[in-house]
Amino acid sequence: MITVKNVSKRYGKFLANDDISLTVQSGELTVLLGPNGAGKSTLIKSVCGLLRFRGSITIDSLDNRSVEAKRLLGYVPEMPVLYPMLTVYEHLEFIAKAYRLQNWEHSADELLRKFELSDKTNKLGKELSKGMQQKVSICCALLPQPRAVILDEPLVGLDPHGIREIKAAIADLKTGGCALLISTHMIESMEDNWDVTYIMKDGKVAALCRRGDLPAGQTLEDIYFSITEGDKTA
Ligand code: ADP
Repeated sequence: MITVKNVSKRYGKFLANDDISLTVQSGELTVLLGPNGAGKSTLIKSVCGLLRFRGSITIDSLDNRSVEAKRLLGYVPEMPVLYPMLTVYEHLEFIAKAYRLQNWEHSADELLRKFELSDKTNKLGKELSKGMQQKVSICCALLPQPRAVILDEPLVGLDPHGIREIKAAIADLKTGGCALLISTHMIESMEDNWDVTYIMKDGKVAALCRRGDLPAGQTLEDIYFSITEGDKTA
């Protein structure tokens, strides 16, 4: 479970996250929605321990900056960052060594098969398309079998086949009891699987929607536009 309490983040004088609190339960897909510049990536980077912030963030009750918490967390950044001169398989080997994983080879093979990368194991990072890089980045995040997974705009730049594969992987993680936090500005992309959505605007959480609590006849999209652009039907 991911718990964010009263988190604020400034870049110089600019307040990019303003007193944000949220929880992501195990087995739930929580979506961070919001227009560009709302502060989604900033929050995600804070949760992953990549930024200094005010407030507190825990992963399964452990401070997110601790090594123990980092072991529980998988992070897939918006732009995959691969090593140009390592092969696909060497990326997984690198993660296995960094996390001191034992008997990881079978899991690596399973992940590569699931993401249709089995025939690309000897390709170098620099030789991969954006979609393949994204899939390798996801395999690296999942190899240590994290309890919480954070994906920043995971579907951007993928073709329909890649989108389907990654959506299926997200559904599997949810079924497996992972706490999932996904940032996106593509509302429809998470339509099938979301449980809780936080709509962010100007660095704040402007609304919290639970799937079961949506008013009859209202979609997430209706709520999103009424919050981010004002209710033009009123
Ligand atoms: P989102 O992911 O919702 O598009 P971001 O978290 O990337 O939003 O950005 C929120 C705000 O913080 C934006 O106004 C952006 O320009 C600003 N910002 C993001 N990163 C930095 C940075 N490193 N330095 C200064 N301002 C930043």
